[in-house]
Amino acid sequence: MKYRAILLFGAPGAGKGTQGKILGQIPNFVHFSCGDAFRNLRVDSPLGRVFVEYAGKGHLVPDEPTIELWKKSIEGMEATGRFHPEADTVLLDGIPRNPNQALIMRDLIDVVAIFNLFCPQVEKLVSRLQRRALKENRLDDANVDVIRARLETYKRDTRAVLECYDDRLIHQIDSTQEPMHVLLDILKIIVRIPKPAVSDGGTVFAGNAPA
Ligand code: ADP
Repeated sequence: MKYRAILLFGAPGAGKGTQGKILGQIPNFVHFSCGDAFRNLRVDSPLGRVFVEYAGKGHLVPDEPTIELWKKSIEGMEATGRFHPEADTVLLDGIPRNPNQALIMRDLIDVVAIFNLFCPQVEKLVSRLQRRALKENRLDDANVDVIRARLETYKRDTRAVLECYDDRLIHQIDSTQEPMHVLLDILKIIVRIPKPAVSDGGTVFAGNAPA
């Protein structure tokens, strides 16, 4: 069975995490941030060390351990009852992050929508990341050279992920707006996406429920 997924897409600092956290509070939606999964690893674990090495330079962690971490995390969420794949939609934030990851995940996820949080003002992204570095103690956002490297990685490797999916799934969202307006734009689209046939609390039917 494929996981039903919505991709939160955009450059570092575009607001994927902010929106993902809010949307993940809606029943039947679950937020998964790949960056958070990496940051939750112990820094002295083998993958934790790899993460620090790559993220500290603004580079992507290699694909194979990244996908493994994603799979294990999702399975863990399932095992602990935080994610019910038959009823829930996972909001993927930060994965897939290059075309190869999209290819590997093709048989694992059913993408029902992609929100491209675009932000044409690069300086706005840089200042958001710097503010976040102070607030959240994030080593990868603390240094302006690393921020520039992350934005380069986005342009070079990540942007092309959009080409891996049908255009009709992609929704352009202006992320220069205040978070509440970004949220509103996303919600207007999410409410129109057909629901899975089963949702929490028993069986419901897509379309008209029987009398
Ligand atoms: P942001 O929210 O600013 O886009 P993240 O928190 O998603 O940043 O990611 C932080 C770092 O974690 C990335 O710069 C990268 O090194 C690593 N990372 C996160 N997701 C992936 C992924 N799918 N593939 C490879 N590396 C990743």
